[in-house]
Amino acid sequence: TQSRRTLVVGNWKMHGSHAANEQLLEALKAAGPLPADAAVCVPFPYLAQAAERLARTAFAWGAQDCSQHEQGAYTGEVSAPMLADFGCRYVIVGHSERRALHAESDQLVADKAKAALAKGITPIVCVGETLAQREAGETEAVVKRQLSAVIHTLAHCAGEMVVAYEPVWAIGTGRTASPEQAQQVHALLRAQLAAATPRAAQMQILYGGSVKPDNAVELFAKADIDGGLIGGASLKAADFLAICRAA
Ligand code: PEP
Repeated sequence: TQSRRTLVVGNWKMHGSHAANEQLLEALKAAGPLPADAAVCVPFPYLAQAAERLARTAFAWGAQDCSQHEQGAYTGEVSAPMLADFGCRYVIVGHSERRALHAESDQLVADKAKAALAKGITPIVCVGETLAQREAGETEAVVKRQLSAVIHTLAHCAGEMVVAYEPVWAIGTGRTASPEQAQQVHALLRAQLAAATPRAAQMQILYGGSVKPDNAVELFAKADIDGGLIGGASLKAADFLAICRAA
């Protein structure tokens, strides 16, 4: 909203196959011009497929994680230079599933964001509190701490990232933060960014957590909500396109 372009990013997580992706990508390709910037973040093995199908469409593509290292003996890891090699515009870093299931620390997430930016890939940095943290009144402190590590590590280039506020209790649960609850946190995040970079007013801050076609319009209308990071609904072309058109 405001002067910022809306951005809608699909996070496919660990879903898909060559055949299933083909249908989804063909449907996106057929969509024509969109009122928002849009992208899909796909599993690593399908980056080539996404790049081939989405070239010269309204959709950019990206990955869901990257290594903090440029290259080396890191079995199983994928580097930012490799993502650049496949034309990725975005990479999600610090998704709550990575933080929780792979014990990723705030500093590691910040280092991954830095590695992405060094290759010209825009990191989508996820922050968000758990239900227990929200109920304990810790929401502000948690997201501040998570974002602060990234701001300090990126220093002068902090203005080049995208931030995604994803309350953990709203991810994949069908429970959405109300537009007011989300806006409140987005405003805090923008104020924190403003203290660090002159670009804060132009930066896109996305909301994620059970965004669907029927709640996207209301969420995206809020002053500091500049689009969405979409999990489940990004796997259905009709739903994902409807969210892209809610901009
Ligand atoms: C996500 O995991 O980034 C997400 C927002 O998932 P969902 O839309 O399924 O809640």
